[in-house]
Amino acid sequence: MDDLYRAELELAIRAVRQAAHLCRAVRSGMDGGVMEKTDLSPVTVADFGSQALVCRLLQMELPADPVIAEEDSAELREPGNATTLDAVVSHVRHALGDATAEQVCGWIDHGNAKSFSGRFWTLDPIDGTKGYLRNGQYAVSLALIVNGEVMVAAMACPNLENFPEKGSQPGLIFAAVKGEGATVQAIDGDELAGAQPVRVSEAEDPSLARFCESVESGHSAHDDSARIAERLGIHLQPTRLDSQAKYAVVARGEAEIYLRLPTRKDYREKIWDHAGGLLIAEEAGATVTDVTGLPLDFRHGRELSGNRGVVVTNGKIHFQVIDALRAEGIA
Ligand code: AMP
Ligand code: MG
Repeated sequence: MDDLYRAELELAIRAVRQAAHLCRAVRSGMDGGVMEKTDLSPVTVADFGSQALVCRLLQMELPADPVIAEEDSAELREPGNATTLDAVVSHVRHALGDATAEQVCGWIDHGNAKSFSGRFWTLDPIDGTKGYLRNGQYAVSLALIVNGEVMVAAMACPNLENFPEKGSQPGLIFAAVKGEGATVQAIDGDELAGAQPVRVSEAEDPSLARFCESVESGHSAHDDSARIAERLGIHLQPTRLDSQAKYAVVARGEAEIYLRLPTRKDYREKIWDHAGGLLIAEEAGATVTDVTGLPLDFRHGRELSGNRGVVVTNGKIHFQVIDALRAEGIA
């Protein structure tokens, strides 16, 4: 492997691995019935804890790099949220040995960058919070963007099993460097040693394409994707899963299409929901655009304000999908 970005890749993998362990630890507390059913705080605790751990490593190793992350500590610092803050600190301490509340909030706020710059990281500490709560798919997604291009990505999917092998212990980390291909390794495995290459499927017949989309119809229009499937002659039902794990599913050849179709005119996709997944999919051979066929533009700060929706394919059938979107009046 080219040494350019090697240090960033290893750091990103280390960071999402540590965060994934924290997310799992918080979740096992939930299963134990420690949290009340109506309480949304487990996901909040894991969200903040994950961001604290990732941003701490970035701040320590690459202090000059800004980080655009989803959360900030303002709410967590409010007196009414002291119990949540205590829980976050205790989970971070468990991971690190020691940490104060002030340090934890400081690490979280290291992710406070808002605007585009020549070199920055973007982080979703838990993508797919609904999936996290229902013990489905979720992801910790971290990416380095240089001059508007995603150059490094690491994405932990703690509940995703290996593919095509079934029945294995779930928990994977996908990673990529621009121009170097994409890999997958076990969360519990040995750093880069166990990394295997990931490739998209070679299928070229759109009517046989397997497609995936959000579980939440509020995040992607299921009725519109059903029309696209019909136009392409697809009879298979879509696979629905939460989070950027959908990018990984296309990247590893388990589906040919991931559709994210706008549900509202005014919604703009967030960069942390896509940067990591995009590079992993592209490096595995996928094509990623918005619904009109434009590349995703990471130069607008926190949002993909120049794009609408997202379309990911194995690269062989992209233009048929974009044509179908146009023909259905969705693009
Ligand atoms: P998913 O798990 O693929 O359904 O996506 C989860 C992500 O959807 C969250 O991280 C949110 O940032 C994002 N989201 C929230 N509202 C919308 C919306 N109206 N359209 C698209 N994405 C959304
Ligand atoms: Mg998200």
